[in-house]
Amino acid sequence: VADVSHELKTPLTSIMGYADTLLEGGYDEETQTKFLNVIASESRRMARLVTDLLTLSRYDSNKKKTRKETFDLGDLVKRCQEKLAIEIKKKGHKVTSFVTADVPPVYADKDDIERVVLNILTNSIKYTPDNGEIKIYVGFVYNDAYIKIFDNGIGIPEDDIRYIFNSFYRAGNVREYHGQGIGLSLSMRILKVYGGRISIDSCQGQYTKVTVIFKSSPKTK
Ligand code: ADP
Repeated sequence: VADVSHELKTPLTSIMGYADTLLEGGYDEETQTKFLNVIASESRRMARLVTDLLTLSRYDSNKKKTRKETFDLGDLVKRCQEKLAIEIKKKGHKVTSFVTADVPPVYADKDDIERVVLNILTNSIKYTPDNGEIKIYVGFVYNDAYIKIFDNGIGIPEDDIRYIFNSFYRAGNVREYHGQGIGLSLSMRILKVYGGRISIDSCQGQYTKVTVIFKSSPKTK
């Protein structure tokens, strides 16, 4: 709770600081835009964290009402890319997606699966130094659809990989980055409900590859 509160307080403090400064007035347009950009991106970061926490508590309480529907993974990936366009541009990353034809549709809670993809993609953007390369593959094996997100970022130390899906766990090489260690454990929790799986393969200093597989359900056959 202390860690998460800290994560909420940090962006709030900078939002308040920049808003107060803007209210004092007297800044040129370029500076004002710079401040507004900080306010916008910090607010989005907070909103994402709060949504993650709410989703986590929804899954924890076991009262989760599933709103299942059939949807296309390629469309979902495209939407996630659009939602993170500002963050991608800010870091100068090149993000390419490759979507195979005829990927079986997925039957699950679309918003929650979107959270999974947003979390994985946010990590790739965050943990890859400027001007990195992120590749997203959407395809299928037999009838199981998959998404693979690959980045050429800082990677995960070998000793940390086995703990990476534990709540609040963060690897030793990410201390200088904001984060709370919720995204991956939440993603695993969500996928379990829909018979999905998530796995991670990484080499420190070289790459990280996250694979999400959706077992085909009777609805999607
Ligand atoms: P957060 O990113 O907020 O710390 P996550 O649960 O999403 O939390 O990720 C847990 C940890 O896994 C991260 O702190 C980081 O150490 C590691 N990690 C996840 N994705 C990547 C990635 N693409 N590159 C490097 N490390 C990653």
